[in-house]
Amino acid sequence: MLLRLPGWPCLRCGECCRRYQVRLEPAEAEGIAGRLGLTGIEFRERYGDRRWPGESSMLLRHENGGCPFLERPAGSGDDLCAIHDFKPSSCREWTAGGHRQECRAGLARRWGLTVDSLGQPAGPDEKMRDFRLFVDSLVSDRRT
Ligand code: SF4
Repeated sequence: MLLRLPGWPCLRCGECCRRYQVRLEPAEAEGIAGRLGLTGIEFRERYGDRRWPGESSMLLRHENGGCPFLERPAGSGDDLCAIHDFKPSSCREWTAGGHRQECRAGLARRWGLTVDSLGQPAGPDEKMRDFRLFVDSLVSDRRT
């Protein structure tokens, strides 16, 4: 079964949110803090990595092996961002793709698929069917 993705959607595998810590400039941290009903100081204390030096920027700490805003709703296999509507610019600008080792890892872990020489998902038909259902479901749900 072939599935040609014109552009890769976020696979909701959480790989990038587990691998990397997000750095925030003060203005962006303040903005997110405000959306969460926190002061900048409260936000930094609750979500900042205390090992990060200085106060000219902050690094989101990791909890349970990933970003503190990464969540998996009960009964779902999707890893979602709890602050998707106002997530950091570096998260919004990060695009998924078959060339990304993170997306390849998520594709393998979650669907048991690989990436072919054209950068497209490949694998057994039944796994490709599951993956197609997932991709189709994203059309009505754009949270990532
Ligand atoms: S803020 Fe959201 S998108 Fe960014 S790393 Fe955390 S969970 Fe992932």
